[in-house]
Parts: sequence; structure tokens; C-alpha cells
Amino acid sequence: MQDKIKTRDELQVLCKEWREAGKKIGFTSGAFDILHAGHVDYLEKAKTMCDILVVGVNTDASIKKYKGPDRPIVSESHRIQVVAALESIDYVFTFEERRNQKNIEALKPHYYIKAGDYSTDTLTSKEIVEKYGGEVRLIPIKQDVSTTELLEKMSSSNSQSKYIKEEGTGHLESKSVKQSHAAFLDRDGTINKEVHYLHEPDKYELYPNSAEGIKKFQDMGYKIIVITNQPGIGMGYFSKEDFYRVNREMLKQLSQFGILVDKIYFCPHSKSEQCDCRKPGQALIQRGKDELNLDLSRSVIIGDKTGDMETGKQAGMKTILVRTGFKGEDGEFPGEPDAWADDLLMAAEIILSLERRSM
Ligand SMILES: [Zn+2]
Repeated sequence: MQDKIKTRDELQVLCKEWREAGKKIGFTSGAFDILHAGHVDYLEKAKTMCDILVVGVNTDASIKKYKGPDRPIVSESHRIQVVAALESIDYVFTFEERRNQKNIEALKPHYYIKAGDYSTDTLTSKEIVEKYGGEVRLIPIKQDVSTTELLEKMSSSNSQSKYIKEEGTGHLESKSVKQSHAAFLDRDGTINKEVHYLHEPDKYELYPNSAEGIKKFQDMGYKIIVITNQPGIGMGYFSKEDFYRVNREMLKQLSQFGILVDKIYFCPHSKSEQCDCRKPGQALIQRGKDELNLDLSRSVIIGDKTGDMETGKQAGMKTILVRTGFKGEDGEFPGEPDAWADDLLMAAEIILSLERRSM
């Protein structure tokens, strides 16, 4: 088993040899704080995609830095041994960074394998992976209810942790039971200028004060979630890839302001498909709630359409209508929002003043 544990530098050399020998290399990573059946299943599936499966495990120092001093529950040396003991895994190493960019660049795996589905990290890693001809592969993680319940029972007596997938990074690890709050932001007409069926990155333009407003929400401790209806995909006007490219441009521009978007949820269906994810449908909100462990009553939705307000109302969130994009003049749903704002910055200021008042 000790033979499976290497350094990243050693694996960089080995991966080069394996590539030259025609072996398919798969890479994935995680904290693996308390290994459960969902992890084992995930890693077994990952192994079926490649000849050699390499797994990166976050160091204790890096987990403490990003998750707080009471984490991880299980120390690095034990976590790495448990992972190495799995038959599906060929090699293990530890790493310090939060993101996988350095790992991917060192190992150049054929497949960068991630848990879950679409996330903001997928967008940034996809670019790096595809640059050398690799591929991002996603495996949905099995929600093992009994394990979750077990861990909750365990944690209620001491460490207060619960098993859910860590947002954005594709890492699997346990997380504080304390609920978060989020700002759900509509994309087109709210964050950026409304362009009819926007699908070209060079037409992506942030409204003045958008980034400043989002940054304020982030600084107030809100998770930043973009939630958008994209019926143009369902109607065949543009592809999902086009949509991702525009998102990448958005993330790039927002990152210049120090903003990290936690999730992007989208409905790709046309209205006539009558799905449950198109706003004001609640499916995407519920997914956000589950994936980020959100308290919706402390969350807010901001948009330029009455459908955004209806979404928030049904979910029990605060609702703020911005006077950009459609300015709430679409007439689709009745009712007043909790507040009106000129833009996202004013929306953030409204929420900030409400929070100060309730303190
Ligand atoms: Zn949908």
C-alpha cells in the first residue's frame, strides 16, 4: 500500500512514462475526510474510465486554511492511507492548493474526473485540460442517505459536520451543519446587459455597479449563485457550449473584482417543454439549497423580471427587482417585490441596511 503513496513530482515523471506507454491516466481529488460508500462508488466508476487512477488528497493545512481550524476531522496521514487502501486507486499524493490547476498541469491526465455535474470549477479546469488534449469527465455522486444520517448523528455530539458535496471545487468532504445564505442572481438583464439570446462572449458586458454589488454580497458572507433561464438552448438558437463560453467570460470579468461565483444553475429548456427547472419553477433553487446547505429564508433573489420575483416568493426568499434589463415590465407575474433597486450595488446596500437594522 505504501507503494501507492507518491509525491506530485514523482507522479509527474511517472505520468509522462505512462502516457508514452499508451496508458490512459485518470485524475481526481478530494479531502476524503470521512470516506463513505458514495466515495467508494465514485472512485470505482472513475477507475473504469482509465488504466491508472491517480488521486490528489488535500493536506491538513490547506483544509484548515479554507474550512476553518476544526477541520479536517481525520488527519492527512490517515486520510491518505484509507484512500490508498482502496483497490480502485493506483496512486495517491497530497497537495496544498485549493484548486486543481497545478495538479492538472503537472500530471496532464487524459481524464480529469470530477464529482457532481456542472460547476464553475468545471469551466475553468476545462480550459486547462483541453489545452493539452485532455477531457473533463463528470460522475454524479450517489447521495447515500443512511451515511448522511449516520454522520449527522455522530456530529451532533461533537464536531457538527454533515456530508454534502463541497461546492465549486468538485471536492468531496464533510461540511459544517450551519446553514449558509445566498444571493441568487439572474444573469442577463441583471448582472450583464440584456442581449437577445446572448451567446457570444464578446457581447458580454457587465452593467456598471454589478461587480461592486456582487462583491458586497460576497463580503457580507453570501454565497453567490447565478440562476438563469436559457430557453435559447432548448429552441436550438445556440448550444450549451456557447452558453458555457459566455459564462466563462462572466467568471473572468467578475474574478477581476475578486468575486468567486459558487454555482451557476441554468434551465436549458424552452417554455413549451414545461420542465420544473425553468424559473419560477423551484427545482434549481432546491438544488442550490441542498448542494450548498442554504437557509432560504436568509437568502435573496435579484432579477429584472417578474418571474425572478415569483421564484423568490415561492421559495420564501427576499426579492429585489432591479431597474435594468426588463425592469420588471414583462408583465408575466403579478405582485410586488420586497424592494426595488437601480442595480446590484443598490440591492446589496438595501440588504446590508436590513441586516444592520435586525442586529
Ligand atoms: Zn428547465
